[in-house]
Amino acid sequence: MSRNQVEFKKIYVEITNRCNLGCSFCARSDRPLLDMELNAFAEVLKRLQGHTHDLSLHVLGEPLFHPQIASLLALCHASGMRVNLTTNGTLLNGHRQLLLTAPALHQLNISLHSLNELRADTTRRHLKEIIALVREAIRSTALYISLRFWDMDARTSSRDSGKHHWLLDELVTAFTDAAVDISSGLHGRGVLLADRVFLNPEPQFAWPRLSSPEADKYGSCRALRDHLAILVDGTVVACCLDADGHLALGNIFHQSLVEILAGPRARRMREGFAHQWLVEPLCRRCSYRRRFVRRIPDRSASACSEEGVCGESESCTPAKDVCVQQKNPSASAGN
Ligand code: SF4
Repeated sequence: MSRNQVEFKKIYVEITNRCNLGCSFCARSDRPLLDMELNAFAEVLKRLQGHTHDLSLHVLGEPLFHPQIASLLALCHASGMRVNLTTNGTLLNGHRQLLLTAPALHQLNISLHSLNELRADTTRRHLKEIIALVREAIRSTALYISLRFWDMDARTSSRDSGKHHWLLDELVTAFTDAAVDISSGLHGRGVLLADRVFLNPEPQFAWPRLSSPEADKYGSCRALRDHLAILVDGTVVACCLDADGHLALGNIFHQSLVEILAGPRARRMREGFAHQWLVEPLCRRCSYRRRFVRRIPDRSASACSEEGVCGESESCTPAKDVCVQQKNPSASAGN
């Protein structure tokens, strides 16, 4: 690694911004709909060498909707990258073999909240497919799997709230050996359902919007320190919440990452975060960054031995002794 090269915990690469669903909670963007071409992706991987070992193939869009997802994963493996895939869980059957065998794939995050946007019979069918895949993954792979619920916070994640009863029932039936009894609800906590399989309830976050009122002038964020994101057209942005590319810092197809990070906008943002000053208007309207604030672990929560691999690595604190995920895999994460 050269003297000016920064290493990130994770880099998000948006391989497609197309999706087979149109969930109500997802960000709407006017960017043209594109799939990243194979040679372009290979170029991105080349330019990320030495900057990270972990990729999340997602900003907007459904990664499994990319027509060459198998080839993209093969390129990741050849480049020595570990991959974290976040999927809406509706395209698993067509990719079952790939997901169970791709050597680059380290973690699969399945957004169960997407299922609530579908017709009840379709939802049940997909949940069955998800459970079948998870069972097979436990048996035959080393994959980590995070089953995520948005819009289930401490108040609404009880079975009494009604909305997710059936889903919890199905999971209770499927994973009777869960380390924590979930038959009475989740109550805002994360649960280890099986070896390497986490059920993570999370409050739904609001995408930062320039049209929203300014919320904070002061504060910090882990963007550009732990992570950054590359949109499907190569635009480098500070974080995976910048769905419209408002925080564009440069383009990976035209500049090296070192050059981009040395640019005036990236430098101002980093210096601002270091001094608790939110330089960018989008950051002043972002509540998600508060999830990056380091929290004291809840010593009474269920144990987790896998730092940063429970599906919440965006918000996992890096120091082992303060890693909330070691104690509770329910802490919030990105999309
Ligand atoms: S404050 Fe929000 S919008 Fe700004 S870089 Fe951080 S996560 Fe992104």
